[in-house]
Amino acid sequence: MPTLVVVGAQWGDEGKGKVTDYLSAEADTVVRYQGGTNAGHTVIAGGREYRLHLVPSGIVHGKVCVLGNGVVLDPAAFLQEMDELAAQGCDVGRVVVSDNAHLILAYHKALDRSEETGRGEARIGTTLRGVGPAYRDKAARIGVRAGDLRYPDLLRRRLDGAVAAANQALGQTEFHSAALADELLALAPRLLPLLRDTAELVNQAIDRGDKVLFEGAQGTHLDIDHGTYPFVTSSHPTAGGACIGSGVGPTRIDRVVGVAKAYTTRVGDGPFPSEELGPEGDLLRERGGEYGTTTGRPRRCGWCDVPVLRHAALVNGLGGLCVTKLDTLSGLSRVRIVVAYEHEGRRLTGFPHDVDLLAQVRPVYEEVPGWSDDLSGAQRFEDLPATARAYLDRVAELVGVPVVMVGVGAERGQTLPRESMF
Ligand code: GDP
Repeated sequence: MPTLVVVGAQWGDEGKGKVTDYLSAEADTVVRYQGGTNAGHTVIAGGREYRLHLVPSGIVHGKVCVLGNGVVLDPAAFLQEMDELAAQGCDVGRVVVSDNAHLILAYHKALDRSEETGRGEARIGTTLRGVGPAYRDKAARIGVRAGDLRYPDLLRRRLDGAVAAANQALGQTEFHSAALADELLALAPRLLPLLRDTAELVNQAIDRGDKVLFEGAQGTHLDIDHGTYPFVTSSHPTAGGACIGSGVGPTRIDRVVGVAKAYTTRVGDGPFPSEELGPEGDLLRERGGEYGTTTGRPRRCGWCDVPVLRHAALVNGLGGLCVTKLDTLSGLSRVRIVVAYEHEGRRLTGFPHDVDLLAQVRPVYEEVPGWSDDLSGAQRFEDLPATARAYLDRVAELVGVPVVMVGVGAERGQTLPRESMF
């Protein structure tokens, strides 16, 4: 199967970076299709740690890396990340960017900060990187695209309109379009050589029979349509986003897999039914090192939440689950699984789309025996203790999707595939 979409099945931070890096060994092209510098993926390979925000995780293997039209690009942050990756020995010579990717500019970050502050208690928990305002300008048709850098006059005209709107929203004349245009045009010599019609490039790769991996950022429940709105991101991390965000038709996608931690985490605000606010949550956070890559914020933690994963299976068409961080659960005498939600004594069937209802549901737990073995040295799925395998089988049964890969440590090699993914 030559095309594969990897999506986060929870609220992001599932370990997609590691899974994508692992699968990239087999891929020819890796495509990032949405989000911006709000994403943070960590890849650990050969004892080195690579922190990625925009560049697809396939970079560590030196593959063709595409930032598709669905991505929003902070030009200075992107070039800095490219420099850091090059300094770490990565071959960044095959990174390309869509002409149609929208740019995140200084006023988007200022708007993000001022809007989030203005929300007070009702804050969304954004990463303040300007991602939401950049997508909003895109939808309002006042955005600036990477390809506009080719035409300085057009760029200046576009910036005049966008900056006027931003200054009005900010309530002050903070930004000057001419100065912003000069700053951007100073970066053009480095950016222009990377720009391509990436929809054509990716479709040609598929035509050739190349293996193409689409890498989602964030997670299903942060999708602007399918997530816990309004506590969501402004794009489509779900599998459908791979088509829109790269210009590839749905008939060309062969397989979709979801990455899920063996438990659940969430950064930022919003309902989280399986959240453990007591010592069990602290235990998961400390053992799992659950602090954000981009922001350092402590992640909220809870047990594996089956309704969340079933919803991810539904809206993404998942054919397999990659369960990461199983090693974090080692040493527990029992492991809990949220098998359903209850509200006012009634068991709910689907996943509630109303965040107020979702905040009120009570989780229904099932307990399974834990395992004390250190899993970090396991080489194959069969090396896992019987109770750990039984846990994974139970999760797969409840979600209705097979577990096709398991993570037992942060290193690239600590990955146990059960079948070939492509
Ligand atoms: P992403 O945004 O989905 O790529 O996830 P992050 O990179 O933010 O968070 C995942 C963290 O877990 C990173 O620090 C990874 O190195 C680490 N990680 C990924 N898979 C595993 C695993 O199976 N076991 C352990 N212990 N850590 C893992």
